[in-house]
Amino acid sequence: MTLAAEHVDVLIVGAGLSGIGAAYQIQKAFPDRTYTILEARDTIGGTWDLFRYPGVRSDSDMHTLGYRFRPWTDARAIADGPSILRYIRDTAAEAGIDQHIRLGHRVTRAEWSTVDARWTVDAVHDNQPVRFTTRFLYVCTGYYRYEGGYAPQFPGVERFRGVVVHPQHWPEDLDYAGKRVVVIGSGATAVTLVPAMARRAAHVTMVQRSPTYILSLPRRDPLADRLRRVLGPRRAYPIIRWKNVLMATAVYRLSRRRPNLVRSFIRRAAIRQLPPGYDVDTHFRPRYQPWDQRLCLIPDGDLFNAIREGRVSVVTDQIAEFTEDGLRLQSGEELPADVVVSATGLQLLAFGGMQLAVDGREVSLPETMAYKGMMLSGVPNFAYTIGYTNASWTLKADLVAGYVVRLLRHLDAHGYDQCVPSNDDASVSERPLLDFQAGYVLRSVAEFPRAGSRPPWQLSMSYPRDLVKLRYGRVDDDAMRFSRQPVTANAHQS
Ligand SMILES: Cc1cc2nc3c(=O)[nH]c(=O)nc-3n(C[C@H](O)[C@H](O)[C@H](O)COP(=O)(O)OP(=O)(O)OC[C@H]3O[C@@H](n4cnc5c(N)ncnc54)[C@H](O)[C@@H]3O)c2cc1C
Repeated sequence: MTLAAEHVDVLIVGAGLSGIGAAYQIQKAFPDRTYTILEARDTIGGTWDLFRYPGVRSDSDMHTLGYRFRPWTDARAIADGPSILRYIRDTAAEAGIDQHIRLGHRVTRAEWSTVDARWTVDAVHDNQPVRFTTRFLYVCTGYYRYEGGYAPQFPGVERFRGVVVHPQHWPEDLDYAGKRVVVIGSGATAVTLVPAMARRAAHVTMVQRSPTYILSLPRRDPLADRLRRVLGPRRAYPIIRWKNVLMATAVYRLSRRRPNLVRSFIRRAAIRQLPPGYDVDTHFRPRYQPWDQRLCLIPDGDLFNAIREGRVSVVTDQIAEFTEDGLRLQSGEELPADVVVSATGLQLLAFGGMQLAVDGREVSLPETMAYKGMMLSGVPNFAYTIGYTNASWTLKADLVAGYVVRLLRHLDAHGYDQCVPSNDDASVSERPLLDFQAGYVLRSVAEFPRAGSRPPWQLSMSYPRDLVKLRYGRVDDDAMRFSRQPVTANAHQS
């Protein structure tokens, strides 16, 4: 028996920050069109609902992590997870987007038919298969596996008498007050968790294999505060947003061009905030250059303050094994612990694990090339959101949504049914899609689509440059093929 399918003009997958932002722009541009968001979980918010560990917060400023179309009016530039979740939910409720969301719908497969000029999308709801068809598939599934983070198997973990937790599955009832806590890791999650847990724990030790660049920023932005007072929150928002974009872009560029200067600036700032005589070079001098991996921001120097106050210590060493009472390190040092938090990172997952096919042929993602960082070669009427790694995710998500709107308008204006990026230039060589040296990226980037050595296939890490290209550049460039249904043998270009 064939499954009855429900048809919508645009089908969005994922109701996180990106999916809600995408729906907002689609709905505003095409009030007469139908769209639906399929969301695997039973609630919206994605990342900002899933992660519940102590102190969970943004590590980029909310004026750029917030949507362009909806000002972030809270006085705090670095916000806690629950406030971000509220912001996403309020955006969905105020725009009526929540009426278009189907919760508990996990998309497993999507197949494009050129003859029908539509996608058939299969999902699972209540353990039952459900089917949708759509003219345009827009995937906003984030970049990691929701089921579980990366959890290396440390020897001897089974004999440890304490509790081991992973930040992605934080036990609601975990009581660590007065306990000895060890946090394994040195990324954004570890540097968030450590000072937050140190407020109640007896002591927190952060065990890292190698150091990360850590930079303190004020939780409240004094210039933003002043602008808000003078102009009011709504008018101040775009100005603050642009100030932050330009500052972040300048820091990133300086880090790439003059890495030693930036290294020395970050080192001196850390020395100023750490106790006198602290071994900064062992614990806070990374082996890589700034922005080879994401720079970790800490609000108001909270991690450094906790170290100064003796509530936190940092150990740079390798874990040899778990013992009954804690951890033994390769140096032979023993770290007693009641609670061990394994902040060892995420597992990347492309497009929420869904299988794509085009006209009966399965799409192998590593054989596709990413077009403008938002579509795939050979995959028609399909877009995805993967945000920046060197700036706020939403900056790119907003641009992608705007571009999808422009593309759909172009299809309408010319009576086209299909648009598909196609790379005919043999001189374009392949590059990794996520050009980032972090362990979690290196572990899985081979399973992702590739980027290319030249535009429009080249990975762009510059919001100002992308803004010009995606908001104002041509949608009918040489790499994009448009065609009508029924498709002729030689799909013609616009
Ligand atoms: C702890 C943490 C902190 C972060 N902090 C920042 C920050 O400060 N700044 C920044 O720029 N970025 C940050 N990021 C990156 C962050 O993920 C993005 O900022 C943003 O939240 C991503 O939004 P999204 O909607 O694209 O993806 P997600 O938030 O991951 O949402 C994706 C949604 O898609 C759903 N989904 C997935 N697969 C399927 C499927 N097959 N079928 C149906 N639904 C599916 C998921 O259930 C989820 O609801 C952080 C990430 C983490 C993990």
